[in-house]
Amino acid sequence: MKNRIIGGTRKPAGFVAVLSLFLALLGATPLLLADESFARSKDYDLEHSRIALRFDLEQKKVIGDVTHTLTILRDTEGITFDSAGLHIQSVTLNKAAATFETSEDKLRIALSKAAKPGEKFSVEIKYEAKPTKGLYFILPDKDYPHRPKQIWTQGESEDTRYYLPTYDYPNDRLTTETILTVPADWLTVSNGKLISVADAGSGLKTWTWRESQPSSTYLITVVAGEFAEAKDTWRSIPVDYYAPKDRGDRLAVNYSRTPAMIELFSKKLGVDYPWEKYAQSMVDDFVAGGMENSSATTNATSSLRHPTLVPEYPEDEDPLISHELAHQWFGDLVTCKDWGNIWLNEGFATFMESVWTEAHFGKDAADYDRWETSRRWFSMQSLYGKPVVRHDFDDSSEFDGNAYAKGAWVLYMLRHQLGEDAFYAGLKHYLEVNRGKNVVTADLTKAIEEATHTNVDQFFSQWIYGAGAPKLDVSYTYDETKRQVLLTVKQTQKREGYVGLFRFPVDVEITTAAGPKLYNILVSKESEGFSLPSETAPRMVLFDKGTQILKSAEFKKDKKEWLFQLKNASELGDRADAAAALGKLKNDDEAASALGEVLRSDKTDGVRFTAAKALGELGSAAASKQLLDSLSSVPQPWVRCRIVEALGNFKDDAAVKTKLEALAREDSSYRARAAALQAIGRLKTPNAYGVLTAAVNGDSPDGFLRNAALRAFGPVGDDKAVALLRDWAAAGKDMESREAAISSLARLQKDNKEITNQIAGYLSEPHFPIRLSASFALGSRGDASAIPALEALLKSNDLSIEMAPMIKGQIERLKNPKAKFRPYGQMEEEEGGAESEEASATLTEDQRLSHIEQLVEEMNDRLKSIETRLPPPPK
Ligand SMILES: [Zn+2]
Repeated sequence: MKNRIIGGTRKPAGFVAVLSLFLALLGATPLLLADESFARSKDYDLEHSRIALRFDLEQKKVIGDVTHTLTILRDTEGITFDSAGLHIQSVTLNKAAATFETSEDKLRIALSKAAKPGEKFSVEIKYEAKPTKGLYFILPDKDYPHRPKQIWTQGESEDTRYYLPTYDYPNDRLTTETILTVPADWLTVSNGKLISVADAGSGLKTWTWRESQPSSTYLITVVAGEFAEAKDTWRSIPVDYYAPKDRGDRLAVNYSRTPAMIELFSKKLGVDYPWEKYAQSMVDDFVAGGMENSSATTNATSSLRHPTLVPEYPEDEDPLISHELAHQWFGDLVTCKDWGNIWLNEGFATFMESVWTEAHFGKDAADYDRWETSRRWFSMQSLYGKPVVRHDFDDSSEFDGNAYAKGAWVLYMLRHQLGEDAFYAGLKHYLEVNRGKNVVTADLTKAIEEATHTNVDQFFSQWIYGAGAPKLDVSYTYDETKRQVLLTVKQTQKREGYVGLFRFPVDVEITTAAGPKLYNILVSKESEGFSLPSETAPRMVLFDKGTQILKSAEFKKDKKEWLFQLKNASELGDRADAAAALGKLKNDDEAASALGEVLRSDKTDGVRFTAAKALGELGSAAASKQLLDSLSSVPQPWVRCRIVEALGNFKDDAAVKTKLEALAREDSSYRARAAALQAIGRLKTPNAYGVLTAAVNGDSPDGFLRNAALRAFGPVGDDKAVALLRDWAAAGKDMESREAAISSLARLQKDNKEITNQIAGYLSEPHFPIRLSASFALGSRGDASAIPALEALLKSNDLSIEMAPMIKGQIERLKNPKAKFRPYGQMEEEEGGAESEEASATLTEDQRLSHIEQLVEEMNDRLKSIETRLPPPPK
């Protein structure tokens, strides 16, 4: 699945779990009841479930009648299902009434005599529930009278039991028949093939769906409501799209590349798309960014970007769409046996995003994502000491940046080291051998070895079962007499816990006047030297050419070489490295002018982004001039917004402030205007209040500029905005505008209890995004009087996916306002090291908050491939 995101200038959706990052940044360690880390021993094999559901919309109640077919696997005196908050009305065993008992999360059915392996049972359970999670009712109310009605489920990780008594752990697979009785004008979507739609009387219809290939219960889905649909096909398999009926016109513009993705993945993997159809349903208030239910993905409606804005986002929602699609193979067809191996789902899905990016948007786009991801991964320090496969996730979720980003990186390295053909031969074999099965990581290594005859045990030992990644010091000298480059490589990571020395092959390229020469070396020691031939003194030495290894490296080079590398290195990662290195040469005009040139002319967006950021970090007059000048020759909105963002670093430059105000009013790109509004907020420009107010009152697609302006009022800190923010925070306004207004409002008039109370009042609203932003806003506000409201919400057990840990983190913030607050230094650790840690210590909390916001904006836009999920709520 993919995670939702809080805040940001655009849709607060997507995936990237900024939330867990927030918690790490805030120093909050959420205490959670974790998912079961190891697979259970099974008393029975659940083979088929016939699931008939009706709904009482008034009561938000589900009325269920489920019949399970199962075979006993080991001697047992009873049959137990997971069942949380369900009111069980009756149970029959092989059609005879049975006695049963329920506890907080189990339904236990007594057998008249002990059952033996091989015995079959048909168990029918009738029940009702008002689910607090697992199944959600999105209905119009007095504040939102026109919302299309929707009912949807979210099973992963262990929430199916809140609307269906079942075996709720991944290590079992079953076929399903889902029978949904709903108002006659609704559409429904569930797993598998649509068998029939029949009149059920009283203005109702009954839809019957059948999934004939077994998958795990967390992948069961029900979506029903007032939806619009669009239809397509892939090789005659239905490819269907659903949106709330008022946004059906957005399906094609955002989703039409789906069949091309199915084709690409089928070909690359050598295993055709395995299900009978592929549906994608976009639902409001979704509790994640996306969820890969078998043959029927559910995504947040934030993926239905406004058609006017789509051209400003070249990759649009493709990372989300390709991620969930990839899960249909990795996760659904082949499923992790336990949550400790969740990277076999998430690492692969994240890796496959880059396969689509590379095929459709080009190698440079994929290279940039990978380069950026590695820097972000290193900045999330809490991940470093944890292995990718682990079973000790009591206090931090298994759905973390290791399962997603590092898992994907490891697969990328594996592809590079095995070669494309061998790598995909290994994956094909893995999918074929384990089709319809549940797996652990050893099944993958075994399949790769069988298919390629290459032993990958050492590779997996260090990258998957071990933790961390190499941190390197690299330098070189040239020996004229021996005509050799002497390259010194030191591994500086602290060897402790699961982190050891790494052993990995590295491409080193030495460029002289005669051209480049490539060498492959094997790094394996704490400190070692490599002598490489070079007829003349090198102009450039690249260590790990093209960024093929997940690592951080301090490579000591003089400016001349960085400048040469910035312009001449053939691979994106090496040029981006040079840009980042030059961004540290404060007050160096030559660096600024080289970066400006690259910003305007590099052939890749990624290097241009990095150059813009580096210019912002230089912070000099020469740097701001480069950024301002480039605005006249760079038309692409996605680059312009990076330039504008970088301008937001120039605190003392009046010309920059004036320019930002002009850009906010009239730039050709909405993204650049939104970035200007944010920068205006950070810099508190002279006319900030007026410019932001005008943007709030103006019109733009989906309130894109309004929301950016509302969010910028917080950093400005001008109390004049209180009335306007209170107004936009109120129920009835657009949800995203409310999120932005709530976040800013929390930062004004901090001793005004009325504001605290207003925000705390939003905690009891049914709208997930509003509750999420209200709780974060209260944490940032620092008014301890909000603690009881947050604690009450926490106790309500009405919390899905990301909410509980988020709220715990906020309560901790309020209880320990002096606790170490380390957003910025930590994020920039890799780039700035001790220096920026120190710098962050001198920042005010407001500045730090604004850094977090900047971070969120950046992550929203850039970090689509890193997705970490917060732990599930307490059970
Ligand atoms: Zn996923």
